[in-house]
Amino acid sequence: MGGNIVTASPIGDSAPVLLALDARVILASSKGQRTIPIDEFFLAYRKTALQSGEILKAIVVPRSHRQAGLRRYCEWFKVSRRREMDISTVAGCFRIDLDPEGVIRQARLAFGGVALMPLRARKAEEALLGQPWNEETIRDISSILAGEFTPISDVRGSAEYRSKLVTNLFEKFYWEMNDPSSPSGETTALLPISKSAAASRSTPHESGHKHVTGEAIYTDDQTAGKPVLEIWPVCSPHARARILTRDASVARRMPGVKAVLLAEDIPGVNDSGTKNDEVLLADKEVYYHSHPRRLVVPPPKRSLSNTNRCRRFFLSNKRLRPEAFTTSPIAFAAAILPKR
Ligand SMILES: Cc1cc2nc3c(=O)[nH]c(=O)nc-3n(C[C@H](O)[C@H](O)[C@H](O)COP(=O)(O)OP(=O)(O)OC[C@H]3O[C@@H](n4cnc5c(N)ncnc54)[C@H](O)[C@@H]3O)c2cc1C
Repeated sequence: MGGNIVTASPIGDSAPVLLALDARVILASSKGQRTIPIDEFFLAYRKTALQSGEILKAIVVPRSHRQAGLRRYCEWFKVSRRREMDISTVAGCFRIDLDPEGVIRQARLAFGGVALMPLRARKAEEALLGQPWNEETIRDISSILAGEFTPISDVRGSAEYRSKLVTNLFEKFYWEMNDPSSPSGETTALLPISKSAAASRSTPHESGHKHVTGEAIYTDDQTAGKPVLEIWPVCSPHARARILTRDASVARRMPGVKAVLLAEDIPGVNDSGTKNDEVLLADKEVYYHSHPRRLVVPPPKRSLSNTNRCRRFFLSNKRLRPEAFTTSPIAFAAAILPKR
């Protein structure tokens, strides 16, 4: 952290966070030490309040909002050209402390990448005080916020793009904090979410929280070390083809193979589509490249000759023209995906 702050880069990521949290920095030298708000630490482009012989000794982050009976929403956003390992185009950290009536008692809107040094949007912060935390307030503040910085254009983004991000990130913060499904902040649903905002929010993967918390149960883990049979789906090499003849007898005679399952071996419906339009094991036609045509249990030892023997089953195919979308991809997706 020390190096990241002391370089005083306008796009350093930790600076907006510390500004939003009202951190203090303890600066020390052989003569003693002093504490100043982080807000007074950044003076100009890559210039800090450190004097000759001084080092940054510690960073103090206060935690006073709970004693004051306030509810805190705080979130940090980073926009960069790559998602990982990239210097920010714009970063913003926002903190809102609400009293029990939902009125803003303290606000910090800190940005990186929009000025010569990391800065707070002081006019917007002041205008937020005493206001209810609602959509109307956010609309009013956005126009003030839009005039607070005059960012520059560089390789990471144009000035206009950066200006837009300043207001958009704050609006995003508002909508995320008011989303009961959002994991950020001390969130409770304060307001109904408008349709337009809901549409612009990214929807988390339905089991994403299980992946990141380790709660997800994977089939592979369940069967590890247990005597189970593996299945090898033999897949179509063609995007679309009519199956003229089928013969599983060669594969069935192969050593170690316990079963070769065809479409007719499925006890229920030979379909895996949500709209019953996806043949599971192809029997008459294959509809896409890698469409499984049968299951070999367990997979025979992988060798070229074994693979060829298993595939011989479908040598007699008539290739057909792959089906193309007849509608636009968006209309197609709207037709097949669950409604949100
Ligand atoms: C490829 C790349 C990607 C990067 N991506 C990001 C990014 O996404 N976000 C981001 O914020 N930064 C990014 N950076 C910048 C860089 O990672 C930071 O500046 C880094 O945090 C510096 O920390 P450090 O500990 O390496 O500091 P150092 O390089 O060790 O120190 C930096 C300067 O601060 C001085 N210094 C260090 N500690 C103290 C102290 N306690 N008191 C006084 N002076 C001190 C040093 O003497 C030196 O002059 C990136 C850099 C590169 C090269």
